[in-house]
Amino acid sequence: MRQQTLDLIIEGGWVIDGLGGPRRRADVGVAGERIAAIGDLADVAAARRVDARGKIVAPGFIDVHGHDDLMFVERPGLEWKTSQGITSVVVGNCGVSGAPAPLPGNTAAALALLGETPLFTDMRAYFDALRAQQPMINVAALVGHANLRLAAMRDPAAQPTEQEQDAMQRMLDDALAAGAVGFSTGLAYQPGGAAQAAELEGLARVAAARGAMHTSHIRNEGDEVEAAVDEVLAVGRNTGCATVLSHHKCMLPRNWGKSHATLANIDRARGEGVDVALDIYPYPGSSTILIPERAEIIDDIRITWSTPHPECGGEYLSDIAARWGCDKTTAARRLCPAGAIYFAMDETEVQRIFRHERCMVGSDGLPNDAHPHPRLWGSFTRVLGRYVREAQLLTLEAAVAKMTALPARVFGLAGRGQLTDGAWADIVVFDADTIEDRATWEAPTLASAGVEHVLVNGSQVFPAAAGMPRPGRILRREAMAADAAGSVQ
Ligand SMILES: [Zn+2]
Repeated sequence: MRQQTLDLIIEGGWVIDGLGGPRRRADVGVAGERIAAIGDLADVAAARRVDARGKIVAPGFIDVHGHDDLMFVERPGLEWKTSQGITSVVVGNCGVSGAPAPLPGNTAAALALLGETPLFTDMRAYFDALRAQQPMINVAALVGHANLRLAAMRDPAAQPTEQEQDAMQRMLDDALAAGAVGFSTGLAYQPGGAAQAAELEGLARVAAARGAMHTSHIRNEGDEVEAAVDEVLAVGRNTGCATVLSHHKCMLPRNWGKSHATLANIDRARGEGVDVALDIYPYPGSSTILIPERAEIIDDIRITWSTPHPECGGEYLSDIAARWGCDKTTAARRLCPAGAIYFAMDETEVQRIFRHERCMVGSDGLPNDAHPHPRLWGSFTRVLGRYVREAQLLTLEAAVAKMTALPARVFGLAGRGQLTDGAWADIVVFDADTIEDRATWEAPTLASAGVEHVLVNGSQVFPAAAGMPRPGRILRREAMAADAAGSVQ
């Protein structure tokens, strides 16, 4: 045993390594930002010891689908992440990101999801701001395709001219050089939805050339979900760009069960060598901006925020329409700009998708919402409490792997997502018997139960302590075979 004094030893817990192996009793030693030793460390000196007897000690969770881009600046405490054991987040999803800023006069409704802070000129400026702020947790960032269109195109609703396509590709390349891990599309939103195959493939080729990736909120998650999955798989197939299908789901009862076909299609693509993965959040309701066209199609719609009618946050659209004496579509139009939760998914299907071997967990949390979807505060603890302990969909070890080593591999976050000697000390200690989400549709900002300690790069972030440093780093995409250095800070 080495004779150094460690900074911290987490003693006597059940260690789950994140790689899928069975738990084992061991102490975990931390020196600086790294895991220095795992085993019997009873005789090793340490500045601080934490008793984890009876508890699980696991790699910190990686939230692959975040919209916290501007929250690192606006609300840097990020309690909705740390309180459920999340130590790294991928931001910039669904086509919208903190940079680049639109040309004057260009805008898109989906940008309102991010926050109040003005967008940054480019990803370099965004990362500079993050470093100056010091992020609470680690962050990997995607560039939004909507941002690229809004920043490069005079008319973002049109098809790009050759020069505009070149400009978008140059901006993407710059963003990747600055440290972005890829780009995201939001094909269900405007202006991203105007894009056709040539535009998407042009961008994906730029990403592939830099070993970066493409995540997509696909064009349709309802009646046309199969074609929409096909579209994004084709981009990966034709360009070699690694692909993630975000928050995969099949909405509306008439489409429930279509994931049998979409998952089979994903497996076929993988068989052909396409690098593809997916994620879910563990709830039967979805959330995004309020779309008036959905008002009559989906029975249960709950308003999460509204600029003209902030008093309606948390109310059902049908109640608001009844009170106003109008139909639901009219009420929805009056509430916009607004956000909403749509109850149109089948919980059994969400669970089936989750069991797919390439499926990860992404909260898709919207911290800027007045009455947010509870996935913001409870996605990871809900998986461990409801899917693992109660429903026994899969073992705790397998579930932890889906939240740690698998996303680290998919996003190329070297030295993350595993408890091994020399890895970054991103660690969560939790009680497998009591861990659960507390956030509900009615009270969506309640912190989870059962999470006891969370460390990011060796420093405690939960429970929060006064004057505690913010230890997060900006993560770049790297090949996992490279050495364990996974950051640019
Ligand atoms: Zn999305």
